[in-house]
Amino acid sequence: MPLYEYRCEACRIKFDLLRSFADADAPARCPQCGGQDTKRELSRVVAMRSGGGEGAESAGGGSSCAGCSSSNCANCSR
Ligand SMILES: [Zn+2]
Repeated sequence: MPLYEYRCEACRIKFDLLRSFADADAPARCPQCGGQDTKRELSRVVAMRSGGGEGAESAGGGSSCAGCSSSNCANCSR
């Protein structure tokens, strides 16, 4: 289950939450004030590739992998 980062608009704190992908955009409850005025931050996982757009890993079906520095590792067995 991916780890998402949220920020509470009321108390300006950040907190992490483990949620399913389907719940990622659902309002998260702030652990400090209990409010739901929260916004999801870009997670570290998504922001891993700098300078590129997002959504690269959702499509393509294994065009790249974590163990390979190339952007296209079709020859890679993993
Ligand atoms: Zn709060």
